[in-house]
Amino acid sequence: MKLYNSLTHTKDDFVTHTPGKVTMYTCGPTVYHFAHIGNLRSYIMEDVLEKYLGYAGYDVTRAMNITDVGHLSSDGDTGEDKMLKGAKREHKTVMEIAQYYTDAFFEDCRKLNIKIPEIVVPATSYVDHFIKMIEKLIDTGYAYEAGGNIYFDTSKLKEYYVFNKQNQEDLAVGVREGVEEDSNKRNKCDFVLWFTKSKFEDQELKWDSPWGVGYPGWHIECSAISLDTLGEYLDLHCGGIDNAFPHHTNEIAQSEAYLGHPWCTHWFHVLHLNTNDGKMSKSKGEFLTVSLLEEKGYNPLIYRFFCLQSHYRKALVFSYDALDNAKVSYDKLTDKIAALKPGGDVSRDACKPYLDAFADAMDNDLNTAMAITVLYDIIKAKISDADKLWLYQTLDTVLGVGLLAAADKKREALAQEKAAAEAEAAAERAEAMKDPLIASIYAAIDERTAAKKAKNYARADEIRNELLARGVTLIDTPKGTTFKLEG
Ligand code: AMP
Ligand code: ZN
Repeated sequence: MKLYNSLTHTKDDFVTHTPGKVTMYTCGPTVYHFAHIGNLRSYIMEDVLEKYLGYAGYDVTRAMNITDVGHLSSDGDTGEDKMLKGAKREHKTVMEIAQYYTDAFFEDCRKLNIKIPEIVVPATSYVDHFIKMIEKLIDTGYAYEAGGNIYFDTSKLKEYYVFNKQNQEDLAVGVREGVEEDSNKRNKCDFVLWFTKSKFEDQELKWDSPWGVGYPGWHIECSAISLDTLGEYLDLHCGGIDNAFPHHTNEIAQSEAYLGHPWCTHWFHVLHLNTNDGKMSKSKGEFLTVSLLEEKGYNPLIYRFFCLQSHYRKALVFSYDALDNAKVSYDKLTDKIAALKPGGDVSRDACKPYLDAFADAMDNDLNTAMAITVLYDIIKAKISDADKLWLYQTLDTVLGVGLLAAADKKREALAQEKAAAEAEAAAERAEAMKDPLIASIYAAIDERTAAKKAKNYARADEIRNELLARGVTLIDTPKGTTFKLEG
C-alpha cells in the first residue's frame, strides 16, 4: 500500500516495524463539548484506514487518548484549559463534563460506524506516566524548570520543525499574532510539559509532582500514552492536519528525546472540513453535530458516505446541498442493491476484478472516492446477484456505509407498501362485491384465471367473450385482471 507520509511529503510504501502487524495511534477528542462533523471527518477517515489495513491482512493494534486535561485554547501554551471552559459554561465539574462528552463522542462514533479503538486512555488516568517521562527528560537535559513550569528545550534537537521546514517562522508559537511571548521560555518554540505556577488560579484538576502541584501539558499525554500502550516503535500516527503543528511536532520532540531513537515512521493527516464561511466552529455560526444532521432528517451514514466521496488529503467544504447530493447517490445505490435477489452461490473468480479494483484504489493513498466508484461498477457488472451482494457486504466491512442494512430497510419498506396496496385492493373488491352484478363479474374473472392456470385457453377466451357481450371489457395487468364496464 502507498500512503502519503507527512514526514517525507511523499506517498511512501507502507512498511511496519514488525511484518504483518501495525501499531496505530490516534489523537482523541478534547471532551469539553460535542464533536463537530469536522472532527468526525478525521475519525471517519482514520477508521477506514484502520479497517482497510485489517482487510489487507494486517493485525492492527490501535490506541487513542481522551484529552480531559491540559489542552489550552491556543493549542500552544496560552489561553484557558478547554475543559475548564466547558465546565464553567455548563456549571458542572470538569470530570462531569469529561464523562458526558466522552459518552457523546462514542455515541457519534456508533452512529457513524466508527469502531472505537481497543485501547482508550483518558489523560487524567495517566498522570504518573507523564511525570515519569518528564523526569527523564529533565535528567537527560531535554527539559528545564523556569518560573515554576517545566519546559521542553527545543534547542537540544537536531531538527524541531519536522513536518514543515519551509514555514518555520510562521509556525513558531511565540510569533503568532495576538499570542503573548512567555518570558520563561529559553527558545520561543519551547513548550510546557508541566504547569505549576499556573496562570489559571482556578484550574480544577491538579496533581502532586516533583515540581509542585500542577497539571500536564497537552502534548506529553499522547507521547506517554502511545509509548506505554504501543511500544517504542510506532508505525502510524493519525490526526487532523491542525494537529501537525504544534501538537505532533512536540510529540515527536519529546518521544524521540526520551527514547534516543526515531519513534513513529508514518504520519497520516486528514485535511479539514470547512464551511462556506471558512473554519468549522463550536461557538460561532451553526454548530454542526451528528445530532443536528439527524434532526434535519439525515441518516448519519450519509455524512460518512459524503466524506468517503472525497480524498482525505483535500480540504472538503460542507453544505447541505453537497450532503443532499451524497444522499441522492447513496439512495440510488442502495435502491439498486435492494432490487438484487439474495441466495445462490458466489463465484470468487467473478468477484475478483472488483476486489482488485477496490484494493487498487485503497492502496493508492486510501483513495476512497475511487473505491466508491467501484460500488457503481458492480451494479452494472455482468455477474450474479449473489456475487454482487457478497461484494457489497465485503467492501462495506471497510467502507462502513451500511449498504446492505440500508437495502434491507428499503426491501422491507417495499414489501410493506405492497402488502398495504393488496389489502386496500381486497377491501375495495369486498365493498364492490356487495353489488350482485359486480360479484358475478368477479366470479367470472376468477373462473377465467383458474382456466388459464389449467391451460384451458379455449374456456378462458369463452369467458372473456361472454363478458364482452355483457359490456364488460377485461384488462390483464401484471397484478391481476381488472375490468371496465360499458357506459
Ligand atoms: P480536538 O477535539 O480539538 O482535540 O480535535 C479532534 C480531532 O479533530 C483532531 O484530530 C483534530 O485535528 C481534528 N479536527 C479539528 N477540526 C477539524 C476539521 N475542521 N476537519 C477535520 N478534522 C478536524
Ligand atoms: Zn495527540
